[in-house]
Amino acid sequence: MIEVTRGVYCETEWEGANVSAVTTGEGIVLIDSPMLPRDARVWKQELLRVSDEPITFLINTDYHFDHMMTDCLLCDRVIAHLLAEPAFAAQDAEVFEQMVSVFFPQIDPQLKAEVRELQPVSPFISFAERLALNMGSRRMEIIHMGGHTPATSVVHLPEDGILFTGDVHVHERHPFPGDGNLLQWIDALGRIERMEAERIVPGHGNVCDMKSVARLRRYFEEMKERVSDLTAKGCDREEVENRVDMFSYFPVDAGKEARTQSFIRLGVGRMFSQLAESQGGQAVSPGADSN
Ligand SMILES: [Zn+2]
Repeated sequence: MIEVTRGVYCETEWEGANVSAVTTGEGIVLIDSPMLPRDARVWKQELLRVSDEPITFLINTDYHFDHMMTDCLLCDRVIAHLLAEPAFAAQDAEVFEQMVSVFFPQIDPQLKAEVRELQPVSPFISFAERLALNMGSRRMEIIHMGGHTPATSVVHLPEDGILFTGDVHVHERHPFPGDGNLLQWIDALGRIERMEAERIVPGHGNVCDMKSVARLRRYFEEMKERVSDLTAKGCDREEVENRVDMFSYFPVDAGKEARTQSFIRLGVGRMFSQLAESQGGQAVSPGADSN
C-alpha cells in the first residue's frame, strides 16, 4: 500500500485494477475494489491499521469486473455513473467466474471458488455528469469522462492535486479497448491533461504524472492517423486491422503477447468503424461493430 499524500492510499500490485482509499475525517471513501476476495480482506485490514474511520462510500470508476467484483465485501454504499447501473445488474457470480477464467487463467481453483460467492452491489448513488463529495477536510469531484466505457468516470481531489483516472488512463501498458469509444477517449485524455493534478493514480500500473497521460493520448492519436491513412488509400477493415501495428508502443509482459495483439486489433477495428461513423458512415464494412 502506498500513501499518495497524507491520508490517501492506493494499492497497485494486485491482480486486477488499482484500488484507492481517501480518509476524510468523516469516513473513508474507497475507489474501486480488488478483484479477489483475498485481496479485499487484506485491503480492509490495511486500512484499519492506518485509520479508525469507517468505510462510508465506494466509488466505482467503471463497470468492468476487475473494478467492482468485491464491492460486496467492502461497502454497500456504491457510487457509480448512471450507465453503470444496468451493467452491474447484468453481472453475477457466474459472469465474474467466467471473466476471471478468461482474463486470469493462472488463478488457482480455490480463489476462483471464492469468486463464486460474490454479487454486484447496485449503486446507492448514481450521477450523470458530475458529483461532488464534501466530507470533513476533503473535497472529491467525480467527473464523467466516457472513452474507455460509456460509464467511465474519474475522481479528482483538487485541493490535494491528485486524480484517480480509472481506466481512462493506464500507465505504460496497452489499454483494453473492447467497450471503448476511442475518439471520445482521445478527448477524455486531453481533458485530463488540462486538469490540475500533480499525481495521477491510473486504472492499472504505477502512480504516474501527466507525461504518462500525454503518451497514452499520442498512442491513440497515432492509431487514429494510421487508420485514417490506410482507409483513405481504400483499405477495408480487415486490411487496416492487419496493417496497423501498435505492439512496440508499450512494454508487454511475457506470456501476454497474444492477448495484447488481440486487444490492439480490437482497438484498431473499433477506431476504423468509429472514424467511419464520425464521417457519415459510408466506409463501414459489413460486420463492423456499431460502437
Ligand atoms: Zn475498465
